[in-house]
Amino acid sequence: MSAITVRVPAKVNLQLAVGPLREDGYHDLVNVFHAVSIFDEVTAAEPGDVSAATPPLTVRIEGESAGEVPANDDNLAVRAARALAGRAGRSYRADLLIRKSIPVAGGMAGGSADAAAALVACNELWGLGLPPEDLMEIAADVGSDVPFALFGGTAVGTGRGERLSRLETSGSFHWVFALADGGLSTPRVYGECDRLREEAGTDPGRPVASEPLLAALREGDAVALGRALTNDLQPAALSLRPSLAHTLHAGDELGALGSLVSGSGPTCAFLAASETHAAEIAAGLKNAEGCRAAVTATGPVPGAEVVG
Ligand code: ATP
Repeated sequence: MSAITVRVPAKVNLQLAVGPLREDGYHDLVNVFHAVSIFDEVTAAEPGDVSAATPPLTVRIEGESAGEVPANDDNLAVRAARALAGRAGRSYRADLLIRKSIPVAGGMAGGSADAAAALVACNELWGLGLPPEDLMEIAADVGSDVPFALFGGTAVGTGRGERLSRLETSGSFHWVFALADGGLSTPRVYGECDRLREEAGTDPGRPVASEPLLAALREGDAVALGRALTNDLQPAALSLRPSLAHTLHAGDELGALGSLVSGSGPTCAFLAASETHAAEIAAGLKNAEGCRAAVTATGPVPGAEVVG
């Protein structure tokens, strides 16, 4: 094979429960991940130019927000490919092309998604034949959200979010995502969360999965799911980007079954009752303050998979 293309979904967190800051700088999380139908595509190709001067791994990015993504060794897809080559114990070459649709720094784990896609694509291109368990291990080393992008569907992550168990769901849920101008830095949002808690003197306690949320997923009950959505990072995201309160309010006024900031934001997620309802909410959100564009999607969808 001279080129392999992998499609990989964005995620929204249906519950993000953040425990106290640990000594190692991380937080214990209970993180209910849900893969939705906004996809990046990563193609790994055998390089045309194999001169010694060319780096073994190159990356190009296409799409609306391409300029905001590093086209060098800092790119998470390149880091993942390098980690995979390291595991295989030799240097491999590949030219990576990322076609981005997932908002950048939007709280939808776009960079982690590209990393997962690069693992699957390079495993195939280089004929390594590593099983999914090995790819999951490498993924966890690359970043906390990368294993879920391989896994897909709906899953609960514990620890830093990287220990995953699949969750049972029924049917499909309809979503609207309000994209904001500019991103929010994930470490900055966690820092603001710690600061707000310290200021208020609150102790978050040990994070636990929400039973009503798990039941709503199992039963495919969108109304109950809408009521059960929670994100402990939301106050911090709103503190750093107050205009998001207007976006969330606008979605609620349009009859969303539930709304929340996605992960560390600034993308806001709204649950709709049907495909038509989702299209109505998206149309109404286009004029909302703080909303650059609104897109509809469904979930759950599969994780990274070869499409060509
Ligand atoms: P998360 O939800 O996992 O916290 P996010 O969706 O908020 O992440 P990303 O889109 O993953 O944020 O990007 C965060 C930063 O990572 C970007 O600002 C960018 O500089 C860097 N980055 C590195 N590689 C990529 C990539 N392939 N795609 C997007 N961003 C990347």
